[in-house]
Amino acid sequence: MHIVHGMDITPDGKRAIAISYDNTCVLWDLITGKVIDNHLFSSRVYTVKITPDGKIAVCDCEDKSRFLWNLSTGEITGTINPHSSWGLPVAYSMDGKRAVSGSMDDTLILWDTETNEVLGQFPAAAEITRVSFFPGGIVAGDGLGRLFILNGPRELLCPGPGIVTARAIWDHEFQKYLPLSADCKNCGQRFSPPTEVIHTIQEITEKAGLKTGQSPYLELPKEFWDMKGLYCNCPNCGEQLKFNPFIAGVTRNLNRIFLQNIELKRSMQLVF
Ligand SMILES: [Zn+2]
Repeated sequence: MHIVHGMDITPDGKRAIAISYDNTCVLWDLITGKVIDNHLFSSRVYTVKITPDGKIAVCDCEDKSRFLWNLSTGEITGTINPHSSWGLPVAYSMDGKRAVSGSMDDTLILWDTETNEVLGQFPAAAEITRVSFFPGGIVAGDGLGRLFILNGPRELLCPGPGIVTARAIWDHEFQKYLPLSADCKNCGQRFSPPTEVIHTIQEITEKAGLKTGQSPYLELPKEFWDMKGLYCNCPNCGEQLKFNPFIAGVTRNLNRIFLQNIELKRSMQLVF
């Protein structure tokens, strides 16, 4: 038995990856409680981060290697190693097209998640211990207690629409799901997904034959992830957003969720 010292959860809320000091990275099914897959690396895994679409997990190891784990196929699809020491934190831009990582080599590196090309490097005077994107840039903390705010052009830091996930929250008091909601990655506003988005996700779910307990990464063909009906604009800030083609947080009655929300939208449109 070894300490579990890190984990991340797929955006549909159905799977989790846990990393341990025994050099393993384990993918769990949160509905059944069973292990789906695991990888044994040659050194400790220090960080794991899943992309906003839930397809890839990045695992940073003590021996300076960084593995890309395809959660659909279970394969390690490649390694990248932009740092000269082992990596610490990894964060993704809201469109998932950019990632930033810190390291014990006192650098912060921005890279393209599709090509793995390094797009920028920021030298610091100490190890970078925390990184995060915010709508205007990148914020990072180092081992000397300092905080850096790095600004850059939008097309460099986040060229695509922010990826959001519609979720159903279970109300324990009233024993029912609340209406679907999502949070804008740009302004943080919580809003109801447009009817067209709900219809599109329902259509994708039915075409793919997804059951309530299934995680979509194995079952959804590539074209479903980029359908026109998944795009909308935030009703608060106007930022273009792209919905993941699934609903998070539903463990039962997926079809009823679709029906309830579409009926709710219709009644709201009549009222307003
Ligand atoms: Zn917004």
